Amino acid sequence: MTHYHGNNSFRSEFSDGEILYKASEIASPQRQVCDRATQDDRLLEASPHIVWKANASGWATYLGQRWEEYTGIPVAAALGFGYLARVHPEDRPRLLGRSRTSASSPQSYEIKFRLLAREGAYRWNVARGTPANADSQEVLEWVGTYTDMDAIEQTQDSPAAEAEMLRRQGRPEVNFTAENLGKIDAASDLQAIERFTNLLSQGAGNLCELLQAIADATVEAIAGAEFCLVALPDYDSSGLKLIAVGGASNFEKGKTLHVQDKLLLKAFATGESQLWRSQSGSGVPAAACAAAIESGDTGRLGVLAIGNVQDSTAIDGGSVQLLAVMGRQAAIAINRARAIEKLNKQEQLLDLQNELLIRQQEELENQGRRIQQQKLQLLEAAKLKSQFLATMSHELRTPMNAIIGFSQLLLRQHKPLLSAQQTDMVGRILNNGKNLLVLINDILDLSKIESGRTELETEEFDLTELVMDAALEFPNQAAEKNVAMSVSACLQDRFIVNDKLRLRQVLVNLISNAVKFTHQGSICIELGELEGDRLSIAVRDTGIGISETDRPHIFDKFHQADQSTTRPYPGTGLGLAITAYLVEMMDGTIAVESQLEKGSRFAIEIPRKVNPKKP
Ligand code: ADP
Repeated sequence: MTHYHGNNSFRSEFSDGEILYKASEIASPQRQVCDRATQDDRLLEASPHIVWKANASGWATYLGQRWEEYTGIPVAAALGFGYLARVHPEDRPRLLGRSRTSASSPQSYEIKFRLLAREGAYRWNVARGTPANADSQEVLEWVGTYTDMDAIEQTQDSPAAEAEMLRRQGRPEVNFTAENLGKIDAASDLQAIERFTNLLSQGAGNLCELLQAIADATVEAIAGAEFCLVALPDYDSSGLKLIAVGGASNFEKGKTLHVQDKLLLKAFATGESQLWRSQSGSGVPAAACAAAIESGDTGRLGVLAIGNVQDSTAIDGGSVQLLAVMGRQAAIAINRARAIEKLNKQEQLLDLQNELLIRQQEELENQGRRIQQQKLQLLEAAKLKSQFLATMSHELRTPMNAIIGFSQLLLRQHKPLLSAQQTDMVGRILNNGKNLLVLINDILDLSKIESGRTELETEEFDLTELVMDAALEFPNQAAEKNVAMSVSACLQDRFIVNDKLRLRQVLVNLISNAVKFTHQGSICIELGELEGDRLSIAVRDTGIGISETDRPHIFDKFHQADQSTTRPYPGTGLGLAITAYLVEMMDGTIAVESQLEKGSRFAIEIPRKVNPKKP
């Protein structure tokens, strides 16, 4: 025996077939609803179905309260053929004809027609009819519903929109299907179901509230029911769990209610409604009935049970049928509430994700702004650095010129006055001074190019001549190393337009490197014409080559392959960086192919005519 402690959802253990309930422990939120009459009025307004009964010739014998709400015509005036006055004239023969022709074959039917609503406009409705006497050969009576289709059709394509619509309307989908209503024939029962579904409407907001509404509405709708229990399978499916109890106000405080052993489990296991009566009065209700909460669409979701403590006749066959229909209605409502809850959760998740995305977006924008700011600062810093270098180089060049000039003068004019050691020392001063001047010139050059202060001054000249002239700067160094040097030109037109001095600087850089890094073999300078009026100039050597790791960096400033202290090659590491900048200014490209110990090939491609412009 388990006691259930009152809380809003009545979640508690439901261990076996014995369900107990202490009225005093329940504090149902549904008990606090407002005045009954006001509530019913509101619910009737919300219900989208009109329940009706008619004989085989279409003579209406019953119309639910919703008729008057929907059409504005009193039910009494619409009975018989009175209701036809509200049906669109074009649809009347079809509606009547359907009820008459289908009478010979007892099958349910569905037909669309227009019904004049109280606001004065025709609205599309669907009439569903099912034989009240399903066992006979001929239909003697129809029972069915009229359902406003306009809203439903609008949402047909989108289940989410439909769920949203239902949520806005604050009601579960009430399903007076022919199947559900087929076995109900008493007008009072129809009213009870209508009342039940209307009561369900108030609990559609969330699942817990809906389950409580189902429990309360069942007690309200079935005359002999004093209390109602709603049980759903436990999470681990090990049994049923009591979720909601209705009818708490019918009992004294502290009174414990029983539903007899295994009644709910049986109804849940078989899907068949169970009726139980007892005269014993030994603590269990005198009459109890359990029906599955189940529909074709939803499957079996749980069990609905009602009981009467004193009166064993209070629950009869009619109550069983009613409870079964309510079980089906409840299943649809629960399913719908679950769908809405799921949708809500998904929406919340989406909201969260959106918020996260917005934050990420903001963060990205902030980062973008920071990067932009840093870029501007870097550009400014680079400009300042270039300016500084330019100034410094200029300032350094003046004393360097004096050092070089005077040491040259000493060596040339006063050599006889100097001892051998002094001559050697002055020679060193001169060499180092020259090297330093090269470095200063390179730095000055680079800073001028980088700060955008270098412009090409173009003119037309003979390319072969320029190349020969540049190569002729190195024949002695090459000859000293026994390295052959050659120029091969394959040009139909030898004239080009370019900055002669700058192109010469490029060639001298490449040839001087080739000479510097080659100790045997040859150096070859090759000129050729390419497609699109472009030219290629390649300097190929059989020198030490460049490793694969160094190759991508040799055009970087100050980068030199083999950084060891014993590196035998002088240089600044700026020659190729300046060369690459200049080639780029000429709208050209530079590439290197090399293999260690085998040699290198530096190739530039430039247009025949270069436009003078800044880098
Ligand atoms: P450096 O003044 O050191 O020659 P460069 O910018 O002209 O500076 O060259 C960068 C580096 O590229 C050189 O130090 C050298 O390691 C490598 N390099 C350039 N040309 C050749 C070549 N023809 N053969 C081998 N290595 C070369």
